[in-house]
Amino acid sequence: MSSLFPALVGSPGDQAALRFGDRSLTYGELAAASGALAERLREASGGIADGRVAVWATPTLETAVAVVAVLRAGVAAVPLNPKSGEKELGHILADSAPTLVLAAPGDELPPPLRHLERVDVEVRGVGGAGPDVSPGDEDPALVVYTSGTTGPPKGAVIPRRAIATTLDALADAWQWTGDDVLVHGLPLFHVHGLVLGILGPLRRGGSVRHLGRFSTEGVARELNDGATMMFGVPTMYHRIAETLPDDPGLAKSLGRARLLVSGSAALPVHDHERITSATGRRVIERYGMTETLMLCSSRWTPPDPRPSVRADGEPRAGTVGVPLPGVELRLVEEDGTPLSGYDGESVGEIQVRGPNLFTEYLNRPDATAAAFTADGWFRTGDMAVRDPDGYVRIVGRKATDLIKSGGYKIGAGEIENALLEYPGVREAAVTGEPDPDLGERVVAWIVPTDPQSPPGLAELADHVAARLAPHKRPRVVHHITALPRNDMGKILKRSLTADRDA
Ligand code: ATP
Ligand code: MG
Repeated sequence: MSSLFPALVGSPGDQAALRFGDRSLTYGELAAASGALAERLREASGGIADGRVAVWATPTLETAVAVVAVLRAGVAAVPLNPKSGEKELGHILADSAPTLVLAAPGDELPPPLRHLERVDVEVRGVGGAGPDVSPGDEDPALVVYTSGTTGPPKGAVIPRRAIATTLDALADAWQWTGDDVLVHGLPLFHVHGLVLGILGPLRRGGSVRHLGRFSTEGVARELNDGATMMFGVPTMYHRIAETLPDDPGLAKSLGRARLLVSGSAALPVHDHERITSATGRRVIERYGMTETLMLCSSRWTPPDPRPSVRADGEPRAGTVGVPLPGVELRLVEEDGTPLSGYDGESVGEIQVRGPNLFTEYLNRPDATAAAFTADGWFRTGDMAVRDPDGYVRIVGRKATDLIKSGGYKIGAGEIENALLEYPGVREAAVTGEPDPDLGERVVAWIVPTDPQSPPGLAELADHVAARLAPHKRPRVVHHITALPRNDMGKILKRSLTADRDA
């Protein structure tokens, strides 16, 4: 693998690379800025041969330049979430032990970072050719901390090989080229916003326009102004679905997009369908993890006016498509036996192999060993079924989304999708709680559309019963004002049950 970013090597031109608000860089300018910074990094602190460099990952041009520079210097970047509390930052810094921290000039760093050598990221000024290093494919490129949805974040060591592999597999699935212009409104300290949203376009030679902060107006403006694709999390698509009825201009703008991609959590079927009926566009849902980068996606296929034409891998609401090229995926029963065949019903844990996988959890040989089977499959902890034609439907996480009730294994997602179709329900989460007869009973957590008249248990039970088998009917309904979510909009089910236990 020669370079992660072929468009930055040689004589990069004046084609647009990055734009954040009204500040932008061409490929030539990005090559010069990141080259100069990469040279400084190699000189700082007497060399950073095997080191790691922390990046204060605000949603800015500086962060993008910093990560590209660290990769060009041949070391690993550790993106830090600026919204993390001091305790979490302290944990990540003690664990990853970076040699220095990169930040934008003027950014104030909190106490856990102040003992570190700091290098300011200047994006204009003296250019540099970049240091003469040739990192190997297996060398670490990033240490990304998992979202902490199920426990304290773990540092996934991601080699250069995994980044190149996953981005090229997505390029294949989405026909992603240097002509694509991405609208980006995600944070830059996770795989979604950083690897897919920044490194992805740069590897293809295309460009990124970052909104700083997601807004439906910003998305519409950029799509009207030539952007071809948008990456988002389900909470963004939910905002879009809620806004569409009152904003015909938004539907028109989204209708212009070549590619609308959702990931990081399940996209509710109801939101997907509302977006498709208003815009004529289907959302491409992809599934991945920090540890594995991208695993499954539906494929982009050119719009075909003939309704009878169904292309292989085309988006299907409620599924994450099919495994990406190079990804081996199997579903495994609790005793470790792989499921044979796809019947659209049998639930198993997703296990994967492939060149897109991480190397290890930093400083956690125990967790790394526990994450792999003896024959090298990575246990994702996610449960799924496969349709007879191979489409993967994520049922949820083994730890929090699988309810064992009356001898059935019930996935929370299916019930959540049914609840969300009820007009009085704005948001919904489903958990299991101990039940003397059933083992566990199904519990629904509802954010009502109108808090003054929340839907009752009987109404919801009737609604769900018309859609799902009787054992999936919620036995308890809690009304709450908001679901607890993390920065990526993922529902923190741990906190729901902890609140209840408190
Ligand atoms: P932690 O591992 O620290 O508990 P996390 O698993 O949320 O946090 P990430 O690596 O950011 O950290 O998220 C990966 C998880 O997100 C997957 O294992 C899966 O549960 C979920 N996920 C990602 N994309 C999708 C999707 N399209 N549909 C359903 N779930 C998804
Ligand atoms: Mg995880």
